[in-house]
Amino acid sequence: EILPADSITENYVRQVAGASFSYVTPEKPSNPKVIHVAEEVLELIGLEPKDATSTDFLATFSGTTVYPETKPFAMAYAGHQFGNWAGQLGDGRAINLFEIEHNNQSWMLQLKGAGKTPYSRRGDGFAVLRSSIREHLCSEAMFHLGVPTTRSLCLLTTGDSVLRDVLYNGNAAYEPGAIVCRVAPSFIRFGNFELLAARNDFENLQLLTDFTIQNYFPEITLEGKAKYLAFFKAVSQKTLDMVIHWQRVGFVHGVMNTDNMSVHGITIDYGPYGWQDDYNPDWTPNTTDSENRRYRFGQQADVALWNLMQLANALYPLIDEAEPLEAILNAFSPQYQKKYNQMMLDKIGIQEENEATIALVKALEENLVLEETDMTIFFRNLAEVDKNDTEIMAFDRIKTAFYALEEITERNESTWLFWFTQYLTQLKAATASDEERKQKMNAVNPKYVLRNYMAQLAIEAAEKEDYSLISELYEVLKNPYDEQPEAEKWFAKRPDWARTKVGCSM
Ligand code: AMP
Ligand code: MG
Ligand code: MG
Repeated sequence: EILPADSITENYVRQVAGASFSYVTPEKPSNPKVIHVAEEVLELIGLEPKDATSTDFLATFSGTTVYPETKPFAMAYAGHQFGNWAGQLGDGRAINLFEIEHNNQSWMLQLKGAGKTPYSRRGDGFAVLRSSIREHLCSEAMFHLGVPTTRSLCLLTTGDSVLRDVLYNGNAAYEPGAIVCRVAPSFIRFGNFELLAARNDFENLQLLTDFTIQNYFPEITLEGKAKYLAFFKAVSQKTLDMVIHWQRVGFVHGVMNTDNMSVHGITIDYGPYGWQDDYNPDWTPNTTDSENRRYRFGQQADVALWNLMQLANALYPLIDEAEPLEAILNAFSPQYQKKYNQMMLDKIGIQEENEATIALVKALEENLVLEETDMTIFFRNLAEVDKNDTEIMAFDRIKTAFYALEEITERNESTWLFWFTQYLTQLKAATASDEERKQKMNAVNPKYVLRNYMAQLAIEAAEKEDYSLISELYEVLKNPYDEQPEAEKWFAKRPDWARTKVGCSM
């Protein structure tokens, strides 16, 4: 049975009709504590460090009290999960608190893990400490890497236990509950439009689209069909740029369902995400996707396009013409390829884009999978190459990126040496000095990323109530492109114990 949004005030699970959201009240946690605050995000919303220690702050961001004159709400959305239509989903454990305007920017603040909403389906509406640490640290790390993303204001523990697993012996596995406060212009997703379109609720579809354009795409001044087309084009562009950044830093989202795609082209929903240690286009951190690997590193652009196609379908009733939508979709892959080539050339420090340099990029991608090769270390060390190096000297500079240096075959070694010969030829032909090139490369090739094992170490310590590693990693990842001698230990290959460790989704 589908009920109107305002027919019931309880947070109970149901299908919601004729609306894009429902008012809800966060659940009161039993003993909330602030574990970590991102000071840059505090500043973003006009608060100071001392504000974060106030009782108001704790009460508001733990969901204990509703801030005066605000009405928290959960949004209704649908989505395609792993390629299949999933029907109504919605904010099942996310509750939007309020919007803050500061410095002419407007921010929506949202609690993740503050209890049930009408959209919780079979879930409990809560989040566990480990996934909340992963979300908090990664959102901020991504921001400082220059990747469009939702932000995370703070991480709290609730003092409550959350049931996440029933073990093989029937015993329940409880974990500490936690909340993060996410911050973004809005949390509107492709799925919000899909839900209304699927229900033939074109009136609300138009209202939502107009609202989104008016509030978040003020640069669009067209009217009628042209307005909706411009909106779709803008979302396509932003999505494309986001994926280019993911490929640049080695980020694998892991659950690119259409309900996890923001219209702002910002990375949203840090669940089973992971980072490339060894460069591997086939890798996904999501164990539930290990068969098809739909969301693997090398397929993120194609999936983004597939998702945009679903958004185009949802917006179609407002446009009523297929060709202009198809034209935007058809432009995606060639545009992506162009921007991708440019990004990869930047990573290897070559300005000139021509057949030879693009071939060099292609050959590099093939070489990087010959042996397990650490992506971050490889590109960072590549900047150390001098124009006047011999190919052997150049190759030596990146050798620490190999996971099993002793096992490299002669054949692979000569493939690499051949690549370096070509690479050095290009460097010699370029006008930029070694120093100039190195600086530019280090601005796009991070030295520090949130490797999966680093988050894992922070989680293991936090589960013993030692939160110091969360702060340490947060500080290191604030300056991911800088040399940080005291943080050198985090510029290292993944340890062996973490080889098969994956992200977590719950
Ligand atoms: P995700 O895979 O994180 O994008 O989640 C898919 C859907 O399941 C979303 O609608 C979430 O809100 C919902 N969901 C995930 N975890 C929970 C939970 N613990 N309680 C309620 N809903 C959840
Ligand atoms: Mg989600
Ligand atoms: Mg999630």
